[in-house]
Amino acid sequence: MNEMKIEKKKVPIRPGMFRIPEGPGKQPYLYGGQCKNCDTYFFPTREICLNCGAENMEEVPLSGKGKIYSYTIARQQVPGALVTVPYALAIVILEEGCQLHTVITENWESLKVDMEVEVYFEKMSEDDNGNDLIAYKFRAL
Ligand SMILES: [Zn+2]
Repeated sequence: MNEMKIEKKKVPIRPGMFRIPEGPGKQPYLYGGQCKNCDTYFFPTREICLNCGAENMEEVPLSGKGKIYSYTIARQQVPGALVTVPYALAIVILEEGCQLHTVITENWESLKVDMEVEVYFEKMSEDDNGNDLIAYKFRAL
């Protein structure tokens, strides 16, 4: 009898924010929406453009690079959270102009407003099937 080989997958911890393409050399990436009427970017994507009201959004990959707009340091552990304090909670403005909230666990002590940061992806946990649950984080460039 052949032994079943169970393929372990990498799965986004939350849907609608980044993709994990399969295959050698392929890297996960953030994606958002770009309004085809006024070119404004959104993260996560949305149905209706907040800038011009058009319903003409296209899904596009995002650079994953940007600058810190603001941040605060979390020092109180939230029960059940997958991140251990202390860490920074930051708002990052991406090169495309859209903003997102992120956790920064690397070198959070040296963060500064306008510091250049980039996205990376990290295993946070496993699901009931043994798949790796992946989250995005940012770190200084
Ligand atoms: Zn628009």
